[in-house]
Amino acid sequence: MKYKAWFQCIGGCPGRHDLSEVIYRCPECDNLLEVQHDIERLKRRSADAWKDLFDRRYKRSAWPYGSSVWGKKELVCPNVENDNIVSAYEGGSNLFWAERLGKQINVEDLWVKQCGNNHTGSFKDLGMTVLVSMVKQMIADGRKINAVACASTGDTSAALAAYCAMAGIQAIVFLPKHKVSNAQLIQPLANGALTISLDTDFDGCMKMVRKVCETNNIYLANSMNSLRIEGQKTISFELVEQLDWTVPDVVIVPGGNLGNISAIGKGFLMMQDLGIIDRLPRLVCAQAQRANPLYLSYLKGFKEFEPIKAQKTLASAIQIGNPVSIQKAVHILKQFSGIVEQASEDELANAAARADRTGLLTCPHTGVALAVLFKLVERGDIKPEDKVVVISTANGLKFADFQLRYHESRLPNVNHHYANLPLELPAKYDKVQDTILKELEKYT
Ligand SMILES: *Cc1c(COP(=O)(O)O)cnc(C)c1O
Ligand SMILES: [Zn+2]
Repeated sequence: MKYKAWFQCIGGCPGRHDLSEVIYRCPECDNLLEVQHDIERLKRRSADAWKDLFDRRYKRSAWPYGSSVWGKKELVCPNVENDNIVSAYEGGSNLFWAERLGKQINVEDLWVKQCGNNHTGSFKDLGMTVLVSMVKQMIADGRKINAVACASTGDTSAALAAYCAMAGIQAIVFLPKHKVSNAQLIQPLANGALTISLDTDFDGCMKMVRKVCETNNIYLANSMNSLRIEGQKTISFELVEQLDWTVPDVVIVPGGNLGNISAIGKGFLMMQDLGIIDRLPRLVCAQAQRANPLYLSYLKGFKEFEPIKAQKTLASAIQIGNPVSIQKAVHILKQFSGIVEQASEDELANAAARADRTGLLTCPHTGVALAVLFKLVERGDIKPEDKVVVISTANGLKFADFQLRYHESRLPNVNHHYANLPLELPAKYDKVQDTILKELEKYT
């Protein structure tokens, strides 16, 4: 069977564009494009046969299907030849049963999807493998592409740099100066990307990269390029697969540019179309209070949307005031009885630290999602019997500066309830023993 996919306008314009075309917006109406699939053809395979196929490929070694993205190649991006796929075995990340944290908040069926356990430490790999593979295909087909570029809050650039380095393609990344973590800055540098630190915020970098990519044969890798959404939508497939093909009641996703919430929604809708699932979860988008344009729109029933100037937040990867995928996200949230909630700096930092006390190591964005979880449970929007999945978007180790400042009680506007610092002692047995016994008394 030969499967097909193409770009089409999200506003419903009829034109179809080849996935190998360099095109990011509808030429008719300037709306975003999305990848569409020949769903009738995909439906010729039964739901059980799809599930069986995905299960058989999951984390095995037959190239490229062991990657959980490419294990679903037929409904992600069938247009790439296997030889041109650039993959680091992405996906297949642990679904962590947050047993202790769940007990504390009286939600027993609480799971954290550890998307940070990917090659470059965030979920961005899931989309970038698709985009860079398509670029490699286009180059193989004779198209002239000098480089691939993105604006980033730190994780997109890390993913682009790594996948381009694997493929031997030049990457160019635009970062807002002093607004990404040290680990995130090192990643594209180490991978040899041309790294441009701009004296502006993410939204300013975004404007710049769009302009740079208009000419110069430089391909744009931001999530307005909907190839990335196709890879990221496999998060939903993987979740359902890991829950033995059952649907959770609630999925909470931290949102910035709003590509990921759109992708996760798209994944669930596609599974429903194919008969793999028979109902949809409730989707929750969690925003930082200091970068909350979607939340403000939600309060007005999504009737209007105003971009804002995002303020500095610890959740630096979602410090975005003018999200590219706003329309896609609103369209998705309306179909999933969506909720949007926000978290303050104090709430996100303490939610992260509280979760860490139960064995996790969370990034600040996952902290936003957890803080929103706590609020929704308190408010009764999430019930004790609900099966809840929190999407953890990045590996906590990328944000050691955030954690260190938390435990040193140095974060602004935060009460550091869970701070824990090393006890500095002389290397003397008596002193060490005394101290340990005293400390242990506190716990009994
Ligand atoms: C990119 C990113 C997000 C936000 O995802 P969007 O698709 O931009 O909404 C959240 N958390 C982390 C760690 C990210 O890197
Ligand atoms: Zn259009």
